[in-house]
Amino acid sequence: MANDMQPKNGTVSYKDTLNLPRTDFPIRPQAALDDVSLIARWEKEKLYDKAFVKNEGKASFVLHDGPPYANANIHLGTAYNKILKDIVTKSERMTGKHVPVTPGWDCHGLPIELRAAAEHPASKGSELKKECRKYARHWIGIQKEEFKRLGVVMDWDHQYETMAPEYEAATVEAFGKFVEDGYITRKNKTVPWCACCKTVLAAAEIEYSDRKDPSIYVRFPLVEHPFKGLDREVSLLVWTTTPWTLPLNRAVFLKERADYSVIEVSGHAVVVATALVAKVCDFLQVPEIILASCKAEELAGRKVNHPFIENLEVPVCTDDQFVGLSDGTACVHCAPGCGPEDYEVGLKNNLEVFSPLSPEGTYTKGIDPQELEGMAITDALGWVIKKLQEHNKLLFKTSITHSFPHCWRCRNGLMYRATLQWFCELHHKGLQEKSLKAVEHIAMFPEAMRNHLRSSIGGRLEWCLSRQRVWGTPIVALLCTGCDKELVTSDIVKKAVEGIAKQGIEYWDAVSISDLIAEGTCCSSCGSTSFKKEQDILDVWFDSGVSHYAVLKRFNGLSYPADMYLEGIDQHRGWFQSSLLTSMALEGTPSMKTIVTHGYTVDDKGRKMSKSLGNVVAPQQIIDRMGTDGLRLWVASIEMQGDVVVSDALLNNVQESYRKIRNTCRFFLQNLYDFDIEKDAIAPDALMALDTYALYELALFEQRVVKAYEQRNLTGVFHTFVDYCTGELSSFYLDIIKDRLYTDAANSRDRRSAQTVCWIILDSMTRLMAPILSFTAEQLSDFYQKNKQESIHLQDFAHLTSFDGDNNQAIRALRETIKRLVQEGTERAKREKQWGMLCTVRVSVVKALEQLRQKGIIKHSLEAKVTLIMNTNTEPMTLVKELLNDIEVTTRQKKEQFLKEFCIVSACDLIESDVEYQEEDEEGDALYFGQSEEGLQIRAGHAAGNKCPRCWQWEVTDHEDGLCKRCQKVVSVLN
Ligand SMILES: [Zn+2]
Ligand SMILES: [Zn+2]
Ligand SMILES: [Zn+2]
Repeated sequence: MANDMQPKNGTVSYKDTLNLPRTDFPIRPQAALDDVSLIARWEKEKLYDKAFVKNEGKASFVLHDGPPYANANIHLGTAYNKILKDIVTKSERMTGKHVPVTPGWDCHGLPIELRAAAEHPASKGSELKKECRKYARHWIGIQKEEFKRLGVVMDWDHQYETMAPEYEAATVEAFGKFVEDGYITRKNKTVPWCACCKTVLAAAEIEYSDRKDPSIYVRFPLVEHPFKGLDREVSLLVWTTTPWTLPLNRAVFLKERADYSVIEVSGHAVVVATALVAKVCDFLQVPEIILASCKAEELAGRKVNHPFIENLEVPVCTDDQFVGLSDGTACVHCAPGCGPEDYEVGLKNNLEVFSPLSPEGTYTKGIDPQELEGMAITDALGWVIKKLQEHNKLLFKTSITHSFPHCWRCRNGLMYRATLQWFCELHHKGLQEKSLKAVEHIAMFPEAMRNHLRSSIGGRLEWCLSRQRVWGTPIVALLCTGCDKELVTSDIVKKAVEGIAKQGIEYWDAVSISDLIAEGTCCSSCGSTSFKKEQDILDVWFDSGVSHYAVLKRFNGLSYPADMYLEGIDQHRGWFQSSLLTSMALEGTPSMKTIVTHGYTVDDKGRKMSKSLGNVVAPQQIIDRMGTDGLRLWVASIEMQGDVVVSDALLNNVQESYRKIRNTCRFFLQNLYDFDIEKDAIAPDALMALDTYALYELALFEQRVVKAYEQRNLTGVFHTFVDYCTGELSSFYLDIIKDRLYTDAANSRDRRSAQTVCWIILDSMTRLMAPILSFTAEQLSDFYQKNKQESIHLQDFAHLTSFDGDNNQAIRALRETIKRLVQEGTERAKREKQWGMLCTVRVSVVKALEQLRQKGIIKHSLEAKVTLIMNTNTEPMTLVKELLNDIEVTTRQKKEQFLKEFCIVSACDLIESDVEYQEEDEEGDALYFGQSEEGLQIRAGHAAGNKCPRCWQWEVTDHEDGLCKRCQKVVSVLN
């Protein structure tokens, strides 16, 4: 801009007499320099502590930070989430609320345990726990610095960690309350088990590889069958590849709503799915002879005889998922005690989880027939085949090679066995039902996410709380060494809570039984007095789920329930669910009032970011490219409903928007270098008319932005900012006032009027952008806030229309004016109409000038002179006339003078006429006649006189250098 103002053809340079824009505020953000030094400054100024207590005692807003897992560098998804939380909390704080934010970390669990165990193979028990602690601590430190690097303001010196001794103690205490209220039971659950390593395996520890197994076809005779006229035994034909599980059979399942046929095979009438008849007959090499047919439902509820266990009848059930129609016979053997899917379908159908199996993989006491007791299941094949043959139930036998789960350590094939596990009973006291009801009352954004939480709570079959692991909160129970019966008393819990609060979970390893129970305590089941400590730990989702209990209710400044939980969509199955279930059990109310959910980070093709696809973008890459605020603006620009897209096109667009906002603010700084709001502000009633109008538009902008923040519509904030900078400011207000700012006398009313409003706009914009553009806003306020006392993040939004807390006399007076301007009512409506029409006039003038330019008559709009011929019989022109009169009266600025500036031309005449339409004619220099429907005609042509070398306006003048009258005056004062 500065270069525009230098005289090009004049002989004398008036450059030094202009108020040329100047500022040290950098054009481009310098993330590596400025952002990093700002972070250091915030740390030094104790911004995190101050933000935590700001507005204490006023209405509060508590966002409960869901804890990220402390085992790696943060990725773009984590950064996105944390920045969102930061934007929401900063904006809430700037509306005057007390907004304490406590960050948290999730620390227990398998990934850390596995890493620590791999790095310290000799460590066991408490030693291993100490290594896990060290490992998590290391990553918490790194992640904390990474979050700070994003400009996130949270109480970084007082975080919560699920591995902190006080947190661990609170988790145990919460578990104790669950026990007390009767939610906790210990019962069988079927788990993947390695008989060689004698341990349960986590899903991540299972590997699949091919294995050869027997494949047998077994008959289960129906006790009674519905096939009229078939006066013979009819059996369900069951196919299985695990004959050793047949003694544990508890049902035969058919496919829901499927058709079944009775076919003739080797003298037996057997039932298979109709869809599989051809395949089965082909495989068994028998002709297709169909004796009868029926629906699965006609067989459901009947009983079949176990193929070799005397006097055992098991039910026929149906299920849609458990039974497929692609292989076998679609009559499926179900042993809930030794198969994972069998277990689930067994739960749904109330079948016994029968599992008399030892950790070493042998049948144990209770197995039927008794002769199996002590036999290894791997040796049972021959026995089962023999029994089947003896009972004439084996129809066919072959072998099959198929994919089978193996242990990752010893590579042996896995078995499944039911072990005693701890459960939270979801139906006790109607917990699941109450939680489902609560889901309906939580404010949900986006609304569509309600279904996710509904189905993850409602679809849950059980909640198994125990894990056979080391790195986690212990289940503080004792087990009878005689009969394995559990013992949990409030006394044991109390002692454990006290001990763990001091020593962490390592306490449980160290404490002796005699410190936990009185001597002579007996087992309620067998009377034994010998106990051992339970070694299982709690599910990590219980850990983090009770954070409302361990953090919200205990941490200084926080409160229950939280106003908001804000996490990615996957947390509906994770943290949202476990938080809701535990809070409903412990408090009877949900721990959150609002749930805000966002999507996953994906690339421009919608693919999730993954190392193997090579499409991972690290937060630092974006920071390097467009500054930390560029990254933060990208976060705000994403619609939370959908995927979090990262693409070049999107980043370019954000970068361009950021540049626009930054340049607009830089323009203000450039023109405020000699302005002090305390000393130089113009009183509201002395402001120029256009400046007052700009204040009105600013107030509307502020209202829109604040509302968008309130509605968590950050995309709305983003767009409103960009539109305001490009529309209302760049191509309108700022374009018009440039002349005044640069060429009027520095201390003139006209220039000070524009500066007063520029300052107010900059101040308001800086505050409104601070939650998102946290670095830029801090830097901007360093420049324009004289005697700045505290960080922009400890200041409030400007509250142009609703707040008069500012001590500054000038600002208070301006606020009152603005408040009056935006007051709803006939006056505002009228003014809006008037200005709207005046702007339409301006658009018509700009069009006319464009035609002059095309005809080669002018190059720059300042070379033009226009005459506006307004037919004041029309309503639109009456509005304009009224407004212009009003301006003349209130600001003593001549209409022509106002219009000349408003249209950025060198002269503007005004003719009020009541003639409807004037013929086009050529008169003097006026080469163009335009007209518009509103009753406006424009005559435009080249302005007379010469170009003032100082301000470029054209005027007839006799000054030796050709200076216009205004410039003569300004220059003479300077000399
Ligand atoms: Zn193994
Ligand atoms: Zn016992
Ligand atoms: Zn001039």
